[in-house]
Amino acid sequence: MHNKKCKYIFVTGGVLSGVGKGITAASIGAILKAKGYHVTMQKCDPYLNVDAGLLNPVEHGECFVTHDGVETDLDLGHYERFLDFETSKYSITLSGSIYKELIERERAGGFHGKTVQLVPHFTGLVCEKIEKASANSDIHIVEIGGTIGDYEGLPFVEAIRLFANKVGRRNCLYVSVVYVPFIHTSNELKTKPAQNALKDLRGFGIIPDIVCVRTENPCGREICKKIAAFSGISPDAVVNLPDIDSVYDVPFNVLRSGVLAILDDFVDNNTEPDMSRWKEFSRRRSQKYAKTVKIGLVAKYVGNDDTYICVTEALKAAAAWNKVNLALTWVNAEEVENNASLLKGLDGIVVPGGFGARGVEGKIKAAEYALKYDIPYLGLCLGMQAACIAAARNGGIKTANSEEFGACEKDGNNVIYIMEGQKGKESTGGTMRLGDCKAVLKPKSRAAKIYQKAANTGEYIYGTELLEDGSVEITERHRHRYEVNQKFLDAIQAGGIIISGLSPNGKLVEFVEAPKCQFFIATQAHPELKSRPLNPHPLFLDFVKAAKTNRNS
Ligand code: GLN
Repeated sequence: MHNKKCKYIFVTGGVLSGVGKGITAASIGAILKAKGYHVTMQKCDPYLNVDAGLLNPVEHGECFVTHDGVETDLDLGHYERFLDFETSKYSITLSGSIYKELIERERAGGFHGKTVQLVPHFTGLVCEKIEKASANSDIHIVEIGGTIGDYEGLPFVEAIRLFANKVGRRNCLYVSVVYVPFIHTSNELKTKPAQNALKDLRGFGIIPDIVCVRTENPCGREICKKIAAFSGISPDAVVNLPDIDSVYDVPFNVLRSGVLAILDDFVDNNTEPDMSRWKEFSRRRSQKYAKTVKIGLVAKYVGNDDTYICVTEALKAAAAWNKVNLALTWVNAEEVENNASLLKGLDGIVVPGGFGARGVEGKIKAAEYALKYDIPYLGLCLGMQAACIAAARNGGIKTANSEEFGACEKDGNNVIYIMEGQKGKESTGGTMRLGDCKAVLKPKSRAAKIYQKAANTGEYIYGTELLEDGSVEITERHRHRYEVNQKFLDAIQAGGIIISGLSPNGKLVEFVEAPKCQFFIATQAHPELKSRPLNPHPLFLDFVKAAKTNRNS
């Protein structure tokens, strides 16, 4: 049954991919949220992969994990950051998962002898997924990956056309984002590819209600009018969205473009969106401050923003709200291995998540350096494992390592070892410890204080609960296969690190910290996944604050 009060916005792209369709969709969502609606988002992607867990992070960017443990791509991260809501397994629909479900149903005899077809079975299941994802929403936005005309995307386009038959055309708004290139040799903008893309879309039975024309520089009304004239669309429905410095200014760009009037009409409500917090963030972000913090991101895929996008976005937001300029410095983990001086002059060190042995010695070195010279340190997942290995080596176990890197099979000093039930699954999809897991933070630990303070101010709550014995229970998302072997706790402690958070059953180490350091916190979780520009994560906020006042730089 579909949610009768929900309205749907479908966003498709033409000409090229990668022109900001997702950010445009999320910005429209942010504006509607600022008008007071409960807005949710969903991505339909034509890949044949079942999820994004096994995709190469260099090619596809970071793997984003939903609270209910689905490995998805980074677009869902944008949705969460723009709309400050939690996506779920319903927020991502990949062709692979649709085919898998259909084939499994067919094998189980679920089609009772019928021929299984793209239409109506694939399209029908996509419609079902859209209904599920929008069950509690006022407005649900669906982005279709790729560009109009791609073979593999066609069933999704047909599904969103059909969807209007189900819920009524007036409850659906179709947005097409097209690119208009500037040809330098002839010194002009070329609208033909956009016209063709819109013609294709018309051929599939969809006439868009809004066409967003993406250009490098502002293009002037005539270009929009020309596209409108050649595509049979009202000129008022064609708006220009030129490139802009920061994705967080796109909502303002969308507001300036004239889209608001169409949205107001669609939802039949012309109350002004309350963009005050967005404005405040924009002001803080674009301001130049007296203080610059130099944060080193010790990473394997250096310079590849997309691979660590949640981490870099969390740092940027934390810097803006701390009123400092952020100088993000990429540090090649493999180079640090033999040259720790690359870490000199940093106000803070972040070791993000990662898999595989390459560069890991450099990450351990970075943790050791932060401990030794008391440099603010934030360890995320592998960053916590690196910190524990560094501490155990400090504490006397010179060959301490992780079972993941196979280095200490002989002496058994696997300070990090494989989690129960994970053996043999190392290269399989969807089998890690994924999504929300609770952690109990020790009373008076730095981590407990940070989460408790955030909960008290009501800024953002991570399922934070103060327990009777003074410990603090929190929830963060996870994605890992290995864990700290508590047999080595004495050595880790002797090396300067204490355990400050465990899973509720006490079996898994969730948080560690170095009490003697200005700021040294590492977690098995991925707090960066829950950080938002308008609501930065308290761990990141405190880390950047410590970097701001770092007495050792
Ligand atoms: N490779 C480590 C593990 O599987 C850490 C994972 C991560 O950083 N996401 O446990």
